Formats: sequence, C-alpha cells, structure tokens
Amino acid sequence: MTPVLRLENVRKAFGRDTLVLRDVNLDVAPHTVTALIGASGSGKSTLLRCANLLEEIDDGVIFLDGEDITDPGADADAVRRRIGVVFQAYNLFPHMTVLENITLAPHRVHGVPREQATRRARELLDRLGLAEKAGAYPDRLSGGQQQRVAIARALAVRPRLLLLDEITAALDPELVGEVLNVVRDLKGDGMTMVLATHEMGFAREVADQVCFLDDGVVLERGTPEQVFGDPQEERTRRFLRRIV
Ligand code: ADP
Ligand code: MG
Repeated sequence: MTPVLRLENVRKAFGRDTLVLRDVNLDVAPHTVTALIGASGSGKSTLLRCANLLEEIDDGVIFLDGEDITDPGADADAVRRRIGVVFQAYNLFPHMTVLENITLAPHRVHGVPREQATRRARELLDRLGLAEKAGAYPDRLSGGQQQRVAIARALAVRPRLLLLDEITAALDPELVGEVLNVVRDLKGDGMTMVLATHEMGFAREVADQVCFLDDGVVLERGTPEQVFGDPQEERTRRFLRRIV
C-alpha cells in the first residue's frame, strides 16, 4: 500500500553548521499513528515542518500519497490543504470567535462556501464537546479547550494526514487528558497521524509505530512494544532511562 507520507533520505540544515536532519527515512501507512520521540533539539519539529512544506529540505524527497511534494513544481497550498497541523501553542486568532477560527481557512483560503464551512465547523465542535463554545473568544477558554479548537481547525479542511507537535506540552497536567482523548478518538476514526511527543505512556498506547530520532536520523523504529520494551540501540535505552 502506498504510504500516506514517505520521507526518503531527507536532509535539512539551518545555515552551514546546524545539520538537523542528516538522513531521515520514514514511512507512514494509511490509518496508522506514528510517534516521533527523541531528545529536545533532535529535530522532531523540523521533521514535521518539512513534511508540511513550512521548511524547505536540502536533499531527499518527501511523498504525500505517492506524489513528490518536494518537487519544485508541486503546489504547496494544495499540499497544505491535505495536511492538518497542530502545534504546541494553540495559535488561535484572539480577535475571532471559535467558529470564525475554524471556518477561516476553509472559507477564505480554500473557497468553501461559508454555509458549508460553518456546518462542518459545528459538526467538529460537536464532536469535540465544544458545541456551546462556538461564539466564544479564545481567551474565554481553558488551554485544553483552546487546543481542541486548534485540532478542530486542523480537521476543518478534511486533511489526509494530521501532524501534531507536542500538543499537550503547554497544558496544565489536568487538561492533558481531554486533548489526548481527542487523539484517541481520531485514531478510532482511522485518521493517519504523526505526533511528536514527550508523553511516552500515550505514545506507547496509541502509536502503531514509534520512531526514535537521534543525531539527524531515525535511529530506531518499531512497534511500541519493541522500542519501549526492548530497545536495540544503546542511545535509545539511554534516552528512555532519562525520560521515563
Ligand atoms: P525538537 O522538536 O526535537 O526539539 P527542533 O526540530 O525544534 O527539535 O530543533 C532541532 C534543531 O534545529 C535544534 O538544534 C534547533 O535549535 C535547530 N533549529 C530549529 N529551527 C531552526 C531555525 N529556524 N533556525 C536555526 N536553527 C533551528
Ligand atoms: Mg519540537
């Protein structure tokens, strides 16, 4: 089966000295969850940003549904429409209501008629338990609610793939659960996701594939049982000892 996302020998440097992704290879099968783990600074966010074409890669190829999206001729806007992204900081527009935040991209950027975008947004809010917050401004919501709105916003364009970058890292501990529940639900729906996370317990539970990033490569990959239960690389073992 064609992977939803494939990175082949991806290389990314910032300037001359900071080689962040040395030679990254990654396959994400349809309807699976991939967890990216690794020390701070190991390149998890950079990898996700490259996959969404927020960063230009220096070498290698990235495929989305078999299509080379790093080809200079690729339509970056069309690619981003197929990939939803949620970052650590919710990044909601403070001067817009929840509903406006969610309909902005579909309506203004992708030309979905307002009514249709609104219907979709209400459906999503309903699903995420936020129906009564449609008219609220972000500063009236808890961090967990804001992050759920950010997820709804990412889903509004019906993406093929969802990239989640440490989406619970900025939350108070008591709010983490409600956001992780949304991810569990999406997995139940068969959503293909790649998530960078420090929540090892959650990665273990939800991931089909765990990739340990180290020194610019995916040093070790496998099922959660393999990577957490029986890591083969000394550097993986050391990382897990430190973090768990
Ligand atoms: P992680 O998400 O795993 O913590 P990042 O991808 O954020 O790692 O960062 C990997 C490395 O790339 C770090 O050393 C970071 O300082 C560097 N880096 C990330 N973005 C930039 C940038 N825009 N310019 C220069 N260096 C960057
Ligand atoms: Mg990061």
